[in-house]
Amino acid sequence: MSRERQINVKTPAQIKIMREAGRINATVLAAVRERIQPGVTTADLNAAAEEVLKSYGCISPFKGYGRPPFPASITVCINDEMVHGVPHPKRKLKEGDIVSIDCGAIFEGFVADSAFTAGVGEISPAAAKLLEVTEGALFAGIENMRKGKRTGDVSAAIQNYVESNGFHVTREYTGHGVGKKMHEGPQVPNIGAAGSGVLLRPGVTIALEPMVLIGTHETRVLPDQWTVVSADGSLTAHFEHTIAVTEGEPLILTFL
Ligand code: MG
Ligand code: MG
Repeated sequence: MSRERQINVKTPAQIKIMREAGRINATVLAAVRERIQPGVTTADLNAAAEEVLKSYGCISPFKGYGRPPFPASITVCINDEMVHGVPHPKRKLKEGDIVSIDCGAIFEGFVADSAFTAGVGEISPAAAKLLEVTEGALFAGIENMRKGKRTGDVSAAIQNYVESNGFHVTREYTGHGVGKKMHEGPQVPNIGAAGSGVLLRPGVTIALEPMVLIGTHETRVLPDQWTVVSADGSLTAHFEHTIAVTEGEPLILTFL
């Protein structure tokens, strides 16, 4: 069990700032999505993201994060790469690939965190189903981001959605609280038991991020010390939103 980080409940004014961070993050992701096509390099996608971030006077919390320091503002993952892919000027997208983009934006001291996976041109029916199920799992989790529910309810909803569709969900990589820091408490695994975990209350903000694999839940890290790939080489996808728990409906912060 990893050390639990502090849970910081946000005020309505702080949620408003996070919504702006989320809007900027969504704008960045939309600009990157527009550039996805065969022949584009993963470094081109990072440059597109940085241009939009700069236009808002924002930076991404990814740049310089961790050890070795992450060198870019977004992560880009192709096919069997699940998360933390490092953009590279020689890595080109090809027709039929699936590509996952994860980006963060810091606005007035608060972080928004969001990701999507998209096809490059025409993709196989299996890849299309993987994207649909992964995004569906994210929304199954979001549906449980309500006052009075527990983090285990969210985790169980994600796991059940993925496994009932015949795919596998990561064990090691989790959703997380987000606010002044990219990673705060509570941790929200993509697997779990309903009724367990931390009680959700208004003002709790969490980045939910199911990572789904076709062939196995097992992963490994490449020698670059960042890129996480499926252990069996099968396709993987990743969708993420930052969400606030409210008195009523879950509030997605990372949309346009
Ligand atoms: Mg992310
Ligand atoms: Mg995240």
